[in-house]
Amino acid sequence: MTNVREKERIFDLRGLELDDEVLALAELERDPVFHKIEPGMYGYYLSGSLGMGREAAGRLRGKQIRALLEDAGVRFRLAESAGAGAFKVALRAQLDWSGKVPEITVYRESMHQLHMAAAAADGALGPVTFERIVDIHLAHEYYHLLEYRSGRFTNELLEPVECLRIGPFRRKATVLQTSEIAAHAFCKELLGLPYLPSLLDNIYLMQTERMEMERFVENVKKWKKILGESGLHML
Ligand SMILES: [Zn+2]
Repeated sequence: MTNVREKERIFDLRGLELDDEVLALAELERDPVFHKIEPGMYGYYLSGSLGMGREAAGRLRGKQIRALLEDAGVRFRLAESAGAGAFKVALRAQLDWSGKVPEITVYRESMHQLHMAAAAADGALGPVTFERIVDIHLAHEYYHLLEYRSGRFTNELLEPVECLRIGPFRRKATVLQTSEIAAHAFCKELLGLPYLPSLLDNIYLMQTERMEMERFVENVKKWKKILGESGLHML
């Protein structure tokens, strides 16, 4: 295992000024229809989704995530790992509605990976315990629960993008990543995190050498430039 080396790798993130918009744009960029979004509309999707997540958390200020889940009648379970192969790494937590009692499964192995990642951020994320990492995932899934129970899904509340046009025929698609951005913003606000928790995934990619730190720094510059050009960010 590479755990020992992973522990030794430290990433200094404090100089990067990673605000919510920058990290949210990183998530938006991963949407399959991102290239169909007009750059002038980035701000609309970013502030719309960040705003919805923050607002939902604002209504629950001071509440503990585990108590919220209990009140909502949702069970939570810690499982070892989600299976084998690439899937195992991708899946950190999931929400299951099929049983009588809705259940959130959080995967211990993934939590451990992210716990190591948080440690590699050299305190930039504050003191992060294993339980705190679990709470981050519970809060993320809880936001999806709120969407599900209210029937108001973040991506559906925002304008769809036109992804295909042939003559009079138009096909539109919603921007699914907006729901993820909102869940991250909800989680950050509810738990009082210094950054959107999606930063942990980026640190994990760097720590396991799936992404170079230099590449991430370059990307941050690119995202800031895009935000600056859209008038969303001070350069
Ligand atoms: Zn999600």
